[in-house]
Amino acid sequence: MAEKNLDVAARLRRALACFEPYDPAFTPCRVNLSANENTHPLPVGVRAAIDAALLATPLNRYPDPMANELRDELAARHGLSRDRVCVGNGGDELLFNLLFAFGGPGRALVTCPPDFSEYANFAAMCETEVRAVWRDAEDFSVDADALVAAAAGAALVFLTSPNNPTGDLLPHDTLRRVLDETDALVLVDEAYVEFAPEGSSVADWVASEPRLVVLRTLSKAFGLAGARVGYVLADPAVVDALAAVRQIYSVDVLAQAAGLAAVRCRDQLAPVVADIVAERARLAAGLAALPGVRTWPSEANFVLVRVPRAAEVRRRLRDEHSVLVRDFSAAPGLDGCLRLSVGTREENDTLLDALATLVREEQ
Ligand code: PMP
Repeated sequence: MAEKNLDVAARLRRALACFEPYDPAFTPCRVNLSANENTHPLPVGVRAAIDAALLATPLNRYPDPMANELRDELAARHGLSRDRVCVGNGGDELLFNLLFAFGGPGRALVTCPPDFSEYANFAAMCETEVRAVWRDAEDFSVDADALVAAAAGAALVFLTSPNNPTGDLLPHDTLRRVLDETDALVLVDEAYVEFAPEGSSVADWVASEPRLVVLRTLSKAFGLAGARVGYVLADPAVVDALAAVRQIYSVDVLAQAAGLAAVRCRDQLAPVVADIVAERARLAAGLAALPGVRTWPSEANFVLVRVPRAAEVRRRLRDEHSVLVRDFSAAPGLDGCLRLSVGTREENDTLLDALATLVREEQ
């Protein structure tokens, strides 16, 4: 009998049966500090360089599949050769493609939650088992022994430094142990590393560590979240594998042009990053002064806080103060936690004032 009522769930690939569209829980608000974007306006010179590059970009031709001009600029930024760089439609595409290429049935990905929720989602889509090594419930540190034990025999390990949403860096000696004591392909996700102290990145390990993959993005420090440009630094053979599985034209001509202009102007972006780092300290100090609020040290462009009645505080921030932050209070390991992106001085003041009022009222 021809089916009249479409039973999509029954037709879906089995691994996708319980998937729902990603919901960034976005509501238009006066101050949006919910998605770890860079809310500072681009420096005028950078914006002008991007605008000129966009204007000069023909739209009638397909993009260069591998974004070679951008790739060369990124390779130069890191002192590596072009064959060690792969550009993607945001870091997200590259995370998915790593799992698509190197995961799959019978293979495992090791993660250290609470971390970026897309890791587990992409793993599930790619039918890859996830082995979770939960962070310490108090300080979110990673147990290196447990990590190495879980990584034995795993295909992939995803480590995040600084971690989202906890803000802490991965100790270099933990990474050293995972590389030395296991055979896994190890991704270090450095989406936020520009906000961390000098020397935090392991990008310069890539040349000598064939199983290390470092992920970077232009969505945060470079202020280009809307353009969707990320990249990995990796062994040329890993780059070849990623090149083989990617959607050929996933990084469009406008994204390539904007990304190239921004990376060329990177020196002009340094003061913006420095301001965000200074604002992070100011925001953290303001939060620490609020009664009943706990914060954790962050090396990224956000701060994790635990507040009494967090979900209600987040709702009232949105509805009564038009300030949007991210609610993690129902996520495992993040009881009562909200994640606050660091904005401009004015945005952070608005957030602090509103939180001070709400925390007092919700006591
Ligand atoms: N990694 C981490 C840890 C992130 O938080 C994000 C974005 N929120 C990404 C990767 C992906 O960023 P994008 O796709 O914008 O490059």
